[in-house]
Amino acid sequence: MAQSKTCQVLVVGGGPGGYPAAIRAGQLGLDTIIVDKHGLGGTCLNRGCIPSKAFIHAASKYEEMVHHAEKDEMGLKVSEPTLDMAGVTAWKDGIVSKLTKGVGQLIKAAKVEAISGWATFQNAKTCLVEMEDGETIEITAENVILATGSKETELPFMSFGGNVIGSTEALELTERPEKLVVVGGGYIGLELGIAFRKMGSEVAVVEAADTILPSYDKEMIRPVQMWLKKNKVALHTGCKAKGAVEEGGQTFLAFEDAKGETQRIEADKILVAVGRKPVTEGWGLENMGVDMDGPFVKIDHQCRTAMRGVYAIGDLVGEPLLAHKATKQGELVAEIIADHKRAYDPVSVAAVCFTEPELVGVGLTPDEAKAKGEAVITGKFPLAASGRALTMEGGADGGFVRVTARESDHVILGIHAVGKHVSELSGEFALALEMGATLEDVAGTIHVHPTLTEGFAEGVLTALGHPIHISA
Ligand code: FAD
Ligand code: NAD
Repeated sequence: MAQSKTCQVLVVGGGPGGYPAAIRAGQLGLDTIIVDKHGLGGTCLNRGCIPSKAFIHAASKYEEMVHHAEKDEMGLKVSEPTLDMAGVTAWKDGIVSKLTKGVGQLIKAAKVEAISGWATFQNAKTCLVEMEDGETIEITAENVILATGSKETELPFMSFGGNVIGSTEALELTERPEKLVVVGGGYIGLELGIAFRKMGSEVAVVEAADTILPSYDKEMIRPVQMWLKKNKVALHTGCKAKGAVEEGGQTFLAFEDAKGETQRIEADKILVAVGRKPVTEGWGLENMGVDMDGPFVKIDHQCRTAMRGVYAIGDLVGEPLLAHKATKQGELVAEIIADHKRAYDPVSVAAVCFTEPELVGVGLTPDEAKAKGEAVITGKFPLAASGRALTMEGGADGGFVRVTARESDHVILGIHAVGKHVSELSGEFALALEMGATLEDVAGTIHVHPTLTEGFAEGVLTALGHPIHISA
C-alpha cells in the first residue's frame, strides 16, 4: 500500500517556475512538498537556458582563439587552438550539476520536502507519486501549483532518432557535427546553430517563415543576418522541412524551397527546433477540472485555474515560454496562497536572444506602438559610437539601442537593442518600463562610463533630439 502525506502546498515540476514557488512557500512558513521526476532545475537548468549559454560561451571563446591564431590582432596571438567537444560538454555538465545541487540546498534550507518521482493526479488535490524504486506515495494538498513545463515539438514526419535530434540531444553531443542542418530559425535553432558554427561546424538553417527570428522586427534581425552571411551559414527562409532521407550511408534533410521545389542538404546531424509544447499529458490533468486555453492551462491574473486551490505557472500556461516569467509567477503564487495581495501584471516581459549579436526586446516596437494607436517618437543610438562597445570588439556588427516613447508625455513604451553583450542591459530596460520611466527620467540618470548602458542614455537623448555622441 502507498505511503501517504498531506501538505499545505504541493508543487509539481521543479523548473524555474516550480522551485522558486516551493522556496517562497517554504519561506512563508507553508508546509510544502515539491515533486519532479527529472531533477530540480527543470528544462532551464538541465537541458535549456544554462547548458545552451555554457555552449554559447565556450563556442565564442573557441572562435576568438581561432581568430587570434589566424590574425595577429590586438597584439594577441595563439597557436593551433583545438576543440574537444566532449570536454565542452563535460564543462557544461559541471555547471549544471553545481546549479542543480544549489537548488537542492535552497529547497532544503526553505524546509521544503523534495520528492523525486512522477506525479499523477486522481483528482484536483490528490496525486500518486511513482518513485524510481517503484514505491508510490499518495499526496493530498490544500493547494496545488502545477509547473510541469514544456517539451520539444517533433515534426510528425521526422521524429527524433538517429541523426535527427532535438535541443536536449544537441546539448549532450560529445563530437562536433561537421555538417549541422537546423530546422527552425527561431530562438533555439539560431542560438545553437550559431554556437556550432563558431565551434567550426558547417551550418545550414531551414526556416518556414520568410524571415529568421519572426518575433523580432526587421531592423533588429539585420545584424544577425549579416553575421550569418559573413560566417557562411546557409540560410533557407520560406522553406519547409519535409523529412530526413538516408542514402548511401549519409543523411540528408529534404525540404521544399520558396518556389515549391524539393531540395536536400547533407547533414551529420539535423537539429529540429520548431517550438515547444506544454506538458499536459500523462499526469492526470484531465482529472483536475481545470479549463484549457488552446494547448495551455487557462489561468487568471493570479495564476488561478478554474479549480479552486489549483494554480498553474510557467510554460504550462502559455507565451512567453521564458524562465524568468515562470519564476515571477512561481514567487507570486506562493505569496497569494499565503494571503498576500499579488497579481501577475507586468508591463512587459523582457526577452533576450543569445545569438551573435545578441538581441533584447522589452515592451513595444515602434510599429507595435503605432498599431495600438500611439503617436511615438524614437531614438536610435548606434553602438559603433560607444567607446565601451569598441573596447569589447562590438560596434562593428550593426548593433544599436532603440528607444520608443509616447510623443505626448515621453513615457517609454519600448526599448530594443542588438549587439555584443547587450543581454546585460535587459535589467535596466525592464526596470525603466516597469517604473513607467519617461525619457527625461533616463536622461537625468548618470550612466557609468565606459559601459554599454551609456548607449541607452544616448538612445534616450536621441529621442529627445540632443544626443552627445552622434550628430542630432
Ligand atoms: P520546466 O523548466 O520545463 O520544468 C518542468 C519540470 O516539471 C520538468 O523538470 C519536468 O520533469 C517536471 N514534470 C512535468 N510533469 C511532471 C509530473 N507529472 N511529475 C513530476 N515532474 C513533472 N528561457 C529563458 O528565459 N532564457 C533562455 O536563455 C532560455 N534558453 C533555453 C534554451 C533551450 C535549449 C530550451 C529548450 C529552453 C530555453 N528557455 C530559455 C526556456 C526555459 O527553459 C523555459 O521557459 C523554462 O524552463 C520553463 O520553466 P517551467 O518551470 O515552466 O518548466
Ligand atoms: P521558436 O518558436 O523560437 O522557433 C521555431 C521556428 O521554427 C519558428 O521560426 C518557425 O517558423 C519554425 N518552423 C516551424 N515549423 C517548421 C518547419 N516545418 N520547417 C522549418 N521551420 C519551421 O521555437 P524554439 O526555437 O524551438 O524555442 C522554443 C521556445 O523556447 C522559444 O519560443 C522561447 O520561448 C524558448 N527559448 C528561449 C530562449 C531565450 O530566451 N534566449 C532560448 C531558447 C529557447
